[in-house]
Amino acid sequence: MNIILKMSTACNGTCVYCSAYKEKPQHLSLQVAGRALGLAAEYLAADRREHVHIILHGGEPLLRSRRYYEAFNRLIDERLGSLRPRLSVAMQSNLTLLTEPKAHSIRPILTRPIGTSYDIYPDVREIRGKRSLDEAWYRAMGVARSTGLETGLVYVVHSQTVRDTEKVWTFFRNHPLVRSVRFNPLYEEGLGKCGEAQRLGITAEQWGDFLIRGWRMFERDGFRAAFAPFTELLNAHVMRRPDQMSCSHKGECFDTFIGVDPDGAIYNCGRWSDTQEFSFGTVFDSGREDLLRSPARLGLSRRGKLLAEGDCADCQWWTYCHGGCPNDAYLEHGTVEARTKWCEGYLAFFEECLRPLGEPVPREEVA
Ligand code: SF4
Ligand code: SF4
Repeated sequence: MNIILKMSTACNGTCVYCSAYKEKPQHLSLQVAGRALGLAAEYLAADRREHVHIILHGGEPLLRSRRYYEAFNRLIDERLGSLRPRLSVAMQSNLTLLTEPKAHSIRPILTRPIGTSYDIYPDVREIRGKRSLDEAWYRAMGVARSTGLETGLVYVVHSQTVRDTEKVWTFFRNHPLVRSVRFNPLYEEGLGKCGEAQRLGITAEQWGDFLIRGWRMFERDGFRAAFAPFTELLNAHVMRRPDQMSCSHKGECFDTFIGVDPDGAIYNCGRWSDTQEFSFGTVFDSGREDLLRSPARLGLSRRGKLLAEGDCADCQWWTYCHGGCPNDAYLEHGTVEARTKWCEGYLAFFEECLRPLGEPVPREEVA
């Protein structure tokens, strides 16, 4: 089970496409955090083979103080006890608020790398205050390195990236501080659906174009770059493991993800908490069994069958896609019972880059 914890919906960043932007930001109290950790303990206790993976998310989670994280660490011990070894914890952050003392307070909590967001275009992402994003990010990457915190990079693909795919790829491939990158398409939520962000939005065709040109760079490089989704697509197709792809390709996140907001509301994941739709309940009134019976969760669980027999019935690439992320479908169509707008881009990529390497993994080969 994956649990996305919104540590704060406030942020020191000024990304023009911010999906999590809130007029009145809130912080996750230790009381709500304790309830969410209690839920994690329930999942772990229910099945000895279960692992829970928590992502400390935001907003910006590093806005929370050292003292908060020290208390949070004690809370994990208190709520999980001997179950803690089956809990892993990562963080998603712009990293710019990382100081040495804060690094020492989060280090005992984190068991996985911090996914840090960054962009090479200064008019897309910036931070408040006197420092530029570049200055603050490079300083923080130095702190992460000197305090033994691992980092990966999350990059939002927008219209400027698509124009400069090879330049962006080469920048990160040769960057001495960057070991891995996950490229995600910009999606239109929060500030991302209005104003300045409109010039940055991309179409399915542009996403397909980015994937195809990125794949060519990946090939030229001997498939060595740890750049997702390229690594996952290679593994899915060549190693025949589409079941190891990320959530938006597997069609099962209603069963494997939840997101918890600072007010305790539970959603399918952090994206649904940004959208504020289909709440499963709250940490105050819902345990694991209640979540399994939640009408919102059951509604989302029906999507796979509907698409497999409907819009995607004839698609040979179903096992690599499953109709895409239900939140993307909802943002585009107002319903999850539709394939996402990225379909056309993926199909172009699958046919041009994967088909020459072999036939797709058929539906009957994946449980
Ligand atoms: S709604 Fe989308 S982003 Fe959220 S867990 Fe499901 S596939 Fe992933
Ligand atoms: S590529 Fe398109 S048709 Fe195929 S499974 Fe994905 S959304 Fe459905």
